[in-house]
Amino acid sequence: MESGKPAGVPCVQLLPDMRCAIFGKPERPAVCRSLRPTQAMCGAGREDALTYLAELERLTAV
Ligand code: SF4
Repeated sequence: MESGKPAGVPCVQLLPDMRCAIFGKPERPAVCRSLRPTQAMCGAGREDALTYLAELERLTAV
């Protein structure tokens, strides 16, 4: 997103099925390409991962 992704706002590239519309394409932001998932991020499954993401959103909200 041109000015960065504000907390609480879905990325414009996020598809309805939660996939990235530009995955594997050169225009995908470097921060996305460089992200390496960790056990702490993913937890035991989707619910843990969404909880982790929600906490990141809370911590970065302005
Ligand atoms: S990987 Fe990056 S560009 Fe793709 S949907 Fe997620 S935040 Fe957006």
